[in-house]
Amino acid sequence: TTFADIDLGEALNQNIRRCKYVKPTPVQRHAIPISIAGRDLMACAQTGSGKTAAFCFPIISGIIRGNQFAQRLPRMPRVAFPQALILSPTRELSCQIHDEAKKFAYQTGVRVVVAYGGAPINQQLRDLERGVDILVATPGRLVDLLERARVSLQMIRYLALDEADRMLDMGFEPQIRKIVQQMDMPPPGMRQTMLFSATFPKEIQGLAADFLSGYIFLAV
Ligand code: AMP
Repeated sequence: TTFADIDLGEALNQNIRRCKYVKPTPVQRHAIPISIAGRDLMACAQTGSGKTAAFCFPIISGIIRGNQFAQRLPRMPRVAFPQALILSPTRELSCQIHDEAKKFAYQTGVRVVVAYGGAPINQQLRDLERGVDILVATPGRLVDLLERARVSLQMIRYLALDEADRMLDMGFEPQIRKIVQQMDMPPPGMRQTMLFSATFPKEIQGLAADFLSGYIFLAV
């Protein structure tokens, strides 16, 4: 299998070639077709397995496809309406995901913004005001942005939780639940969710049961 064999669309395929990815890693080979088919996914995958691309490719491909139907996103001054949210535990990981996602989204019109705690919020607010399709965020900073009413999760179609076990270890479960609650307003079935975790303890099984619907379990 090569990436060209998976139906990701020409723009994204070009960027994948530019990144010199030829052969999907095992998690990519299994997770991407499941997500492209619209199914929710719980994947046990380690760092270095290529999981970033595994959740970024279906999101970018799906946003490009959806935009062709000229769907109207709400326009409200100073409120950002991302279509995809990627939650990650730390600033470092969020920045890594942001850097990779920008390469994958190059010249596609899909806009990627990162927001993390422990840094001034003003630049992040300016980035959000310029428009965002994919928001990469740490849970605490996102709750802050939601409380300031600078981000709305009403139009989220894709949710990816990366290193979910680490987010729980860091005590982010209340923030994560608060965030996901705000997405439960759109019509059911509109949101597609991908949960990535290195381990699959009871707490993660609980998140999967609460956030995913009819999901496929993948262990690589
Ligand atoms: P990740 O597990 O997402 O952090 O990825 C680990 C590293 O592998 C990153 O430096 C990626 O750029 C790289 N990578 C991921 N998928 C592929 C692939 N299919 N071919 C070559 N390199 C890859």
